[in-house]
Amino acid sequence: MTAKVEATERRRTVARVVRGEAASDGAGVRLTRVMGTAALPDLDPFLMLDEFRSDDPAAYLAGFPDHPHRGFETVTYMLAGRMRHGDNKGNSGLLGPGSVQWMTAGRGIVHSEMPEQEAGLMWGFQLWINLPASRKMTAPRYQDIAAAAVPLVQGGAGAKVKVLAGSYGGTRGPVDPGATEPLYLDVELAAAGRFETPVAEGHVAFAYVYDGAAVFGPDGNGRKILRGELAVLDDGTMVAAAGAGAPARFILLAGKPLREPIAKYGPFVMNTPNEIRQAIIDYQAGRF
Ligand code: FE
Repeated sequence: MTAKVEATERRRTVARVVRGEAASDGAGVRLTRVMGTAALPDLDPFLMLDEFRSDDPAAYLAGFPDHPHRGFETVTYMLAGRMRHGDNKGNSGLLGPGSVQWMTAGRGIVHSEMPEQEAGLMWGFQLWINLPASRKMTAPRYQDIAAAAVPLVQGGAGAKVKVLAGSYGGTRGPVDPGATEPLYLDVELAAAGRFETPVAEGHVAFAYVYDGAAVFGPDGNGRKILRGELAVLDDGTMVAAAGAGAPARFILLAGKPLREPIAKYGPFVMNTPNEIRQAIIDYQAGRF
């Protein structure tokens, strides 16, 4: 029985390594764009990944004043610092260290994301996840998740795993998953630690190392990924990582590809150019 399970288990290897690029967005926030670049335009269903990390207020104070979104989800995960979120429907929330905001923009919102601190470290990620055609015009929805609501699982072999979405070791994350069945883990790995988790075959998966370094892939065929590098993983049934002699922290993402046409224009992500034109018309007419 065990032998059979092992025979069908395939650890994902590293297909590609991509380094983020310095970028500026919002009203001049300096960040690192890891996905959504010429080098890595997207990884269906993921559309963009930014890491923002600075203790220089000049790099983040301007924030992201009012701007629209339609047709996808934005996921903000804070490691350090505070960000105030507000939208044109009157929703408001404060994102603190360890908290997650999972926003389904659906048919449209206009919101702002502004730092609520004038000094200190601001560190986190924003990830964009596409919605299927059938859900692009759904009603906007927020899942604001406090840090205390994100379970921390001791992985046993020197891995501490925060489960934001999907499940790890039988522990389910607080996010109510959508059509792309996302897995979002934040993993802290000891210098000689080991981490392993099943990831649905056929789902796209990648890891982004944001501190230290870790080796991804099967034993004997792994590849060392350094801070600031994103590893695109090949298909398989498991993701495995091992410490590379120093502690590491990384996020692991996986999701079901939509395999639909993508029409992208700034903060609008639809299926066709016509739908983009309609999004611009609706936004300009104040229909978001
Ligand atoms: Fe936004």
